[in-house]
Amino acid sequence: MLRPRDAIRSIPAYHPPLAGRNGLRLDFNENTVGCSPRVLERLRQITSDDLAPYPEKQLAEEKMANFLGVASSELLLTNGVDEAIHLLCGTYLERGDHALIVVPTYSMYRIYMAAAGAEVTSVPAGPNFEFPFAEVRNSLTERTRLIAVANPNNPTGTLAPAKELLGLAASAPNTAVLVDEAYFEFCGQTVLAHRSEYPNVFVARTFSKAYGLAGLRIGSLIGHADEIAAIRRVSSPYNVNQIALTCLPVALDDREYLQTYVSQIEASRQRLQDALRSIAIPFWPSEANFVLIRVGATREDATLFTERMRARGILVRDRSTDYGCEGCVRITLGPKDHTDRLLDVLHETVEELGITQEARQ
Ligand code: PMP
Repeated sequence: MLRPRDAIRSIPAYHPPLAGRNGLRLDFNENTVGCSPRVLERLRQITSDDLAPYPEKQLAEEKMANFLGVASSELLLTNGVDEAIHLLCGTYLERGDHALIVVPTYSMYRIYMAAAGAEVTSVPAGPNFEFPFAEVRNSLTERTRLIAVANPNNPTGTLAPAKELLGLAASAPNTAVLVDEAYFEFCGQTVLAHRSEYPNVFVARTFSKAYGLAGLRIGSLIGHADEIAAIRRVSSPYNVNQIALTCLPVALDDREYLQTYVSQIEASRQRLQDALRSIAIPFWPSEANFVLIRVGATREDATLFTERMRARGILVRDRSTDYGCEGCVRITLGPKDHTDRLLDVLHETVEELGITQEARQ
């Protein structure tokens, strides 16, 4: 009889509800209109010669490094940020080490940390989901080897100040600090410029959100050249497929597409937040391409709301089982026409369920 390692057996299965996503998909923080048309054009030109050889990462890696203003020795292309997290855990965590997250946050940190055999400490975010710097510092131990921070955070949309994050990294030089900037394009704040002063800091970026390429699986991990060299040792040389590598430079070059899309999302974010204010639905001001809202006090309230939105053709994500998120639902933003539809359906659903101000408290 085979027996998976104890660390693996104790991890609860994580199955994001991806099946049957019919309707307007405001549930996974993806781009709801699709990637740059130039990327699609390039995809149509793919030939068998592109596909027969193993993928060659170097050129795309140089392109990405240039784009970010870092050396190519400081960057590793990855199969999405998920692989970057996995690699960091595999590189820095020994069995029994401590790893730290602030909850609520992105689910995969805990999974990969636990899979590596680490003990995961979850520090609760502040009352408004602010990053609890003092509590995090107090929770560090001699064995804390990795801290993962989504910034802006998912599912809350809140942003921890870069300066304080770097201060935290400076105070824990033996701890790898991952600043996961998957939603960077929607807020503009990054710790990238300071990386050379903080050799224990890593930054992750992705093409899954603003660039509309979640299906291609491409991201990058940036860090000190010595650390990236160590991570490269455990990473498959073919971790990013040739189709993704071919599309990457085209996606980066279409800056106009990205700017237009991001400004549409910013306008939608403002509109949704204004609408929520006017109907007195609590929400957390967001720096990302989604907004977390509270539709009731219980898990059932959030589940019912999600079902009723789905019945009207809009998928949103029930986050009520996340720490501190009872009665909460996360809504991804799209451009104007998607927001028109969202606001209509939101008003109808709030009306139908009789979500009154008292019910929401
Ligand atoms: N980090 C955060 C904070 C996320 O929200 C997500 C996607 N939901 C990811 C990483 C995963 O990104 P990728 O598609 O690049 O693996």
